[in-house]
Amino acid sequence: MKLAARVQQVTPSMTLAIDTKAKAMKREGIDVISFSVGEPDFDTPTHIRVAAETALEQGKTRYGAAAGEPRLREVIAQKLQQDNGLCYGAENILVTNGGKHSLFNLMLAAIEPGDEVIIPAPYWVSYPEMVKLAGGTPVIVPTTLESGYKISPEQLRQAVTPRTKLFVLNSPSNPTGMVYTPAEIRALATVIVELDLWVVSDEIYEKLRYGGAEHLSIGAASPEAYDRTIISSGFAKSYAMTGWRVGFLAGPLDLIKATTTIQGHSTSNVCTFAQYGAIAAYEQPQDCVQEMLTAFAERRQVILEAINAIPGLVCPQPEGAFYVFPDISQLGMGSIDFCDKLLDTQQVAAVPGIAFGADRCVRFSYATDLESIRRGMDRLALFVKSLG
Ligand code: GLU
Repeated sequence: MKLAARVQQVTPSMTLAIDTKAKAMKREGIDVISFSVGEPDFDTPTHIRVAAETALEQGKTRYGAAAGEPRLREVIAQKLQQDNGLCYGAENILVTNGGKHSLFNLMLAAIEPGDEVIIPAPYWVSYPEMVKLAGGTPVIVPTTLESGYKISPEQLRQAVTPRTKLFVLNSPSNPTGMVYTPAEIRALATVIVELDLWVVSDEIYEKLRYGGAEHLSIGAASPEAYDRTIISSGFAKSYAMTGWRVGFLAGPLDLIKATTTIQGHSTSNVCTFAQYGAIAAYEQPQDCVQEMLTAFAERRQVILEAINAIPGLVCPQPEGAFYVFPDISQLGMGSIDFCDKLLDTQQVAAVPGIAFGADRCVRFSYATDLESIRRGMDRLALFVKSLG
């Protein structure tokens, strides 16, 4: 079959490909230690599972509204008001099959051929590919270790052209773990308002922050910024609900209506009983998030110390999410080569930075248990030593 041109220009998701490979090796009985996909190793908290089980018992097994269960849309709107100071009604919320799907819906609804989307690098693997699938052009703005992997207002300004449609902001960041300060967010918001852009703020790691790092949603920077902001988020990372596939998009009514129409012709509603688990996640006490965060904080310390003790690796301290992103450029090989050899010789899985637009780096997810982190880092040290 001759495939459509649109799929020929996109590459498969490397995060998912490496996770699949690592899991296949494990099934073969190989002792693989995986730092690949960003997936908490915790079980979904009991009260969330019970809420979904109860929904199943109560027959919440049928089609629902394409935009989501009304109660879930309400509690998401309440959460955005309480946590982020963003004023949305339930009608401004679209429930999607995970955060990834909310971004995909947005691109499909907003991007026309020739439209440019500004994406700072390092970026999450799927942003540019989604833009391409929607017919748009990703405009990648490189950032550096020295700038904390953050785009400056000046860089943003310079990347804007008459064809710019959207700016993609992700804080806390996957893959770098960096978090923009409120002052930095406000400075970016000023450019967005001044140049009359739209920004999509991917806030999926919002609750996973360390050492007092603050989160300011760019939509809360000013009323003018709110008018130009779309929020994408979901339940996977903070509530260990990766397989549930529940995320959301929040934004202006015309966009939510358009993306609801897209869902109406593509996925219909998100799994009905899964949405009841998500309602419980937001409605009930947040202790589970705090417990997981405490565990992540300890793991972050352990992995960071281990990596920075390895000569040749340079790793800044991440302030959010659950990734470290060391620079491997002193070792004289590209990130794919590095990760292939690391997996083959030491059975340690990590994601090449090239997937995130940074071939100098490699991403390790520390959403795994402490013992695996310690064993994996011992193997990484042996591997790097073998290169010298
Ligand atoms: N977002 C996670 C990651 O970067 C999950 C995999 C994916 O959807 O790319 O590892």
